[in-house]
Amino acid sequence: MTTDEILDELERRFPNAHCELLHRNVFELIVAVVLSAQTTDEAVNKITPALFEAFPTPQALANADIKEIEQKIRRIGLYRNKARSIQALAKAIAEKNGEVPSAMNELTALAGVGRKTANVVRSVWFDIPSFAVDTHVERIAKRLGLAKVYDNVETVEEKLKRKIKRERWNRAHHLFIFFGRYSCTARNPQCEGCAFASFCKKDKLAAYKEQQKIKSL
Ligand code: SF4
Repeated sequence: MTTDEILDELERRFPNAHCELLHRNVFELIVAVVLSAQTTDEAVNKITPALFEAFPTPQALANADIKEIEQKIRRIGLYRNKARSIQALAKAIAEKNGEVPSAMNELTALAGVGRKTANVVRSVWFDIPSFAVDTHVERIAKRLGLAKVYDNVETVEEKLKRKIKRERWNRAHHLFIFFGRYSCTARNPQCEGCAFASFCKKDKLAAYKEQQKIKSL
């Protein structure tokens, strides 16, 4: 199957694939992406409306009492660290007159913003072709053989960008996430009838992960 055929199949299955993090502007998006580290979009969506109601601007979040921020986000994991991260980020944005930049180097220069967060913001908000590699994208890329099981996230991103047409990067990112979230899940993928079963590397990836686990003991 070519990468175009893989994407066509995913488009057929997930025509509504989109960014599921609730946001009304780019500031809300970048904060939501930072909050989503190691938790689900669903969990983040439960806390962000009240957070942005209380602190609607970078300035407001930057000047907030840290305890109040913690209180608003305490239902997600790592909330103390995340409260500090989003406040530092809000301060950095406030210093730029409240504007979130679109250039990769400027985004990753902001406190708490890594390459993945920057790629999501560039793709979802600015519509700049980008490929954010999160846990779903990495797993799907490896199961579909678009990257090697041992590749790190930077290499996965590089390979996906090389193998997928630039004009499809932004859609492909959402399609991989929907496929990974709702079908090809980490623990119990729904393999029956999967169009990719004949070349799927699920077992190879699982064996590699097991090997890594044993090595780290
Ligand atoms: S066969 Fe299963 S593990 Fe492989 S791509 Fe399809 S759903 Fe995912």
